[in-house]
Amino acid sequence: MSNILIINSGSSSLKFKLINMPGEKVLASGVVERIGLKESLIFYESGSIYVSKKTNIPNHSSGLKEATRLLMDYHTGVIKNQDDIAAIGHRVVHGGDLFYDTCLVDKKVKEQIKNLFSLAPLHNPPNLTGIEVAEEIFPNTRQIAVFDTAFHKTIPLKARKYAIPNKFFEEHKIELYGFHGISHKYVSQQAIEYINKPNSKIISIHLGNGCSMTAVKNGESIDHSLGFGPNNGLIMGTRSGDIDQSVIFFLIDKLGYSSQEANQILNKQSGMLGLTGNSDLRDIEDRAYEGDESCKLALEMNAYRIKKYIGAYAAIMNGLDAIIFTAGIGENSSKIRELVCKDMEFAGIELDNDVNEMGSDEIREINKPESKVKILVIPTNEELEIAKQCYQFIQ
Ligand code: AMP
Repeated sequence: MSNILIINSGSSSLKFKLINMPGEKVLASGVVERIGLKESLIFYESGSIYVSKKTNIPNHSSGLKEATRLLMDYHTGVIKNQDDIAAIGHRVVHGGDLFYDTCLVDKKVKEQIKNLFSLAPLHNPPNLTGIEVAEEIFPNTRQIAVFDTAFHKTIPLKARKYAIPNKFFEEHKIELYGFHGISHKYVSQQAIEYINKPNSKIISIHLGNGCSMTAVKNGESIDHSLGFGPNNGLIMGTRSGDIDQSVIFFLIDKLGYSSQEANQILNKQSGMLGLTGNSDLRDIEDRAYEGDESCKLALEMNAYRIKKYIGAYAAIMNGLDAIIFTAGIGENSSKIRELVCKDMEFAGIELDNDVNEMGSDEIREINKPESKVKILVIPTNEELEIAKQCYQFIQ
């Protein structure tokens, strides 16, 4: 049995979870928020123990030290010392074309993650910081990197390449990399086990703050809605998703925005926020319920885009066994699931509206019994997927 500490390090937050493998038992979990800001927050949970406090956490190193202290503390802790941690698993968003597998972190790996900063400027730098502070605090523990892009390595060239001059692919590596791979891998494997069909055709729909869809054939990603960057495909909280690129040139050339401003508009001010003034779907659903037309339309638009991708992915796989809804919106919004699955009988997708309304933390099937395609709600668990990959790696 091995305890794996999972670290997901963001620009101002550090999430951690200690999981005992192979039993998949969560021993403790927590998050340090507002790192480097006034009044940082720490939440920690282990069994019936909850800690929630405001304190001063100037950087990621102090954040992880505090987390480590809680994990080993006489009252709150679950381990005695550092030797009780077999490995530390780090979520790294972008592996580019350098990392297609989970790997042990060494000097070269860190250098390569750094070289990929330009591809994921918001994510890879804090991910690397997480690795560096873990090395500092746990100098004798194996550090393992698990990449979000890795699951998409199986996407064939015909889907991976953009139809632009070849030199941009060959010399500048401009291609579809994809994201949310750890989540899509986890839920699609759960679905394969649930339907008990390894050679299956599945569409995984991850709807959270960021949204993406993956066509998963025989357990492998073969197409995906995000691409070179994190703004393609579905309508997201603040990102537009698919857009005619002429709009970008119009914003810059005719309306006078700089490229940075245009980037900001499309990534931070668009999506559900741009359409309604709110980015959180709960607020939008409440306002739609009260009769707000812009919110009703935004929900319709959101579901319409997902529906189009379902059609496309069913076509490229020549069939469909299951669709999966996962992440904050996918797991919780019965409204979005209803709008997406409406009028899809032609594709064998038939939602049971009553079951759709029921909540659960477990994997659940929300289709009618006669539906040819299973409609599954599967809670994602990226930390567990990282722990599984780390455990496999150290065996
Ligand atoms: P995630 O990135 O997976 O944590 O998802 C976060 C998003 O899930 C939030 O921005 C909300 O829009 C959405 N969400 C969470 N709970 C609900 C809910 N009960 N109903 C609708 N949307 C929800």
